[in-house]
Formats: sequence, structure tokens, C-alpha cells
Amino acid sequence: MVQKHAATQLHFDLRLELDGVMKSWAVPKGPSANPDVKRLAMQVEDHPISYNSFEGTIPEGEYGGGTVMLWDVGTYTPEGSPSPSDDEMTAEAGYGRGDFKVHFHGKRMTGSYVLVRTKGFGGRSSSKPSWLLIKHRDGEARSATQKDLVDEYVTSVTTGRTMDEIAEQKRR
Ligand code: MN
Repeated sequence: MVQKHAATQLHFDLRLELDGVMKSWAVPKGPSANPDVKRLAMQVEDHPISYNSFEGTIPEGEYGGGTVMLWDVGTYTPEGSPSPSDDEMTAEAGYGRGDFKVHFHGKRMTGSYVLVRTKGFGGRSSSKPSWLLIKHRDGEARSATQKDLVDEYVTSVTTGRTMDEIAEQKRR
């Protein structure tokens, strides 16, 4: 799942369920469906699975203060898995290796992507590593002349609300 988060700096939080938690990355520019684009994805603390349904506003002054939109939801399958029963082990191995190939079955993020862990990219202050999120070339890839995902989809995937409407607590 992906949340659009208007904190101090706008970013998208990509969360993938693994080992009973949501492994989480803050992606400042959001995912790109253009295989020529590499998006910085800074790993952050694991989140509980229960956080997946959160849309609303975190009060100013609290950790992550700002408005949160549910931007995409769905499932994923790790690529290269010999069979569905091996999916969890394949995902753990890819994540552990820092070369996590994932097929997204979201409403907006679809097709094959890879998360690649980088070395020394996050700076000394960050406790978690930085990764790059890159689209693979497949039928769901977009070219530079096509509108990218974050520009096409600007409302909540579950409630259809804009960031302003979520901030104003409007219901639909
Ligand atoms: Mn966030």
C-alpha cells in the first residue's frame, strides 16, 4: 500500500507486508512508472499492518504530523518465486539481499518494480538504508511523454477525496 503524506515535506510512503509487519519506505517524489526514472526510497521504521487503513490528519507536533491519503492498495508477489508457497521465503531473500523484485497488483501501481538498496546514500544521521525504486520494462511501464502516476492520481484510492478534503475532514 502507498500513502501520500503531506508532512514537513510531501512524500509517499510505500509499505509492503513482510514477516508480519509493513516494511516502509518514504519516497519523496513518489513512484514512477517510467523505467528510466530511479526514485529515492528512504527506508523508515516498520509499521503495524493495522496502519494500512489510515487516512486522515496527524496533529501538528506529533511524529509525522500532517495529512495522510490512502493513495494505493493491493497485493504484491515477489518475482522469481518457484511457487506461491515459496513467496514469503523469496520475498525475505530479496529484501535481505537488497534486491527486492516485486510485482505490484495495486489499483495504480501495477507490474514489475525493483527496490535496490544503495550503500552510503542515506547519510550518517539515518539509521535505515536508502533504496532506489525502479520500474521494470513491461506492459505497465510508461514513457517520459506519458503522464506519470503521481500526476494522474491525485485523490484517495478509497474515498476519492483530495488532500484538502481529507484535511478538512470532508466525507464522501
Ligand atoms: Mn510518512
